[in-house]
Amino acid sequence: MKPYSFDKSNALMERARKVVPGGIYGHQNPAMLTRGAFPSFFARGQGSHVWDVDGNEYIDYMASYGPIVLGHRHPRVEEAVRRQMELGNCFNAPGPLWVELAEYMVSITPFADWTVFAKNGSDVCTWATVLARHATGRKKIAMCSGAYHGAHVWCTPAPGGVMPEDRANVVYFNYNNLSSLRDVIDDNEGEIAGVILSPFRHDAGHDQELPVEGFLTGVRELCDRNGIVFILDDVRAGFRLHMGGSGELFGVRPDLSTYCKAMGNGYPISACMGRDSLKQAAQEVFFTGSYFTSSIPMAASLACLRELAAIGGVERMRMLGEKLRDGMLAQARAHGFEVTYSGPPAMPYMTFKDDHGRHDRIKAFAGGCSLNGVYLAPRHNWFLTAAHTEDDIARTLEVTDAAFATVRKQFPA
Ligand code: PMP
Repeated sequence: MKPYSFDKSNALMERARKVVPGGIYGHQNPAMLTRGAFPSFFARGQGSHVWDVDGNEYIDYMASYGPIVLGHRHPRVEEAVRRQMELGNCFNAPGPLWVELAEYMVSITPFADWTVFAKNGSDVCTWATVLARHATGRKKIAMCSGAYHGAHVWCTPAPGGVMPEDRANVVYFNYNNLSSLRDVIDDNEGEIAGVILSPFRHDAGHDQELPVEGFLTGVRELCDRNGIVFILDDVRAGFRLHMGGSGELFGVRPDLSTYCKAMGNGYPISACMGRDSLKQAAQEVFFTGSYFTSSIPMAASLACLRELAAIGGVERMRMLGEKLRDGMLAQARAHGFEVTYSGPPAMPYMTFKDDHGRHDRIKAFAGGCSLNGVYLAPRHNWFLTAAHTEDDIARTLEVTDAAFATVRKQFPA
């Protein structure tokens, strides 16, 4: 195989840096990856594979950081998109898909009676908190320290331009620590409008944590007892763990749930779903956007969700993810590494114990994988898709075995 080189990527990055702050901003900034081992720009994708602008091919375990759930260019989704394209995308009011998609989503989501649509995760998470405030007449929002709910000022992880006032009404507790939430509720008696948290802990660059027994049901109970709106941020995990919302997997039903990534197989759409008891309040909280009613992403979403349900996509991702996990854990042992392989099998992440919270070994590992055609980020959880095959997993395990060997050379025992 020809060694991977990134000449075209690097040339594009040089041009980008002149006209775009940072070249590429946000989570796709290459500074988060392994220097010299990753492309910065992609040309195309097909199924579980992507090709960068230099023509290097990868088995894709980042899936656009989540949106690709059926695989790139899934025929059913693309056909639905093409059909809608023939009719147009944006009108003066939504098309019928607005209703059809809402009906479908409500029909598969046990706790929810309604949905609103938007374009990204940040918008729906923020809107959910505003709705909680309006519905309760209270001002504070409780979130987990270190959790990510988007790029808006009340929760962005970067301090630039954020004023203390932006966070004056945000209070913090710890994931999987019910007593920390109890304390926050006691300390802010009668002031907490909503609690927002993700179904499992997936803070970037950290070992992931599944909810411990009793944590999510405990959150539910505390919310019920104190009249607090329970918001489940299912932006990253939604439709990868359970078609009825990730709460179903863990035995908890929220009052509001936000979705984005896997909703439209790459087409821009997000949603906030809710219970009947919040419907009137939802109607009173202003929400709009130039593209919120666009029809093409709704066509993509309906096709994507129906296909996921029809093929048992959730089960398939779990099964493939388990094979990947079992293979990689055996390899880590064979190479004498202690690793933590965490999170649900469909959305795993791995750290090396000897990295002690730095990312040296995992960066070397991910770089070794990338240079041999397996794309996984060193500081973010990975994503299986329903398009991955047993052959992909087998080939991936050849590459990861060699990558463990490379890390061992770089970091002798
Ligand atoms: N919540 C969670 C859990 C997320 O993972 C993300 C995106 N990574 C967001 C919210 C924000 O979504 P978006 O980037 O689409 O605004």
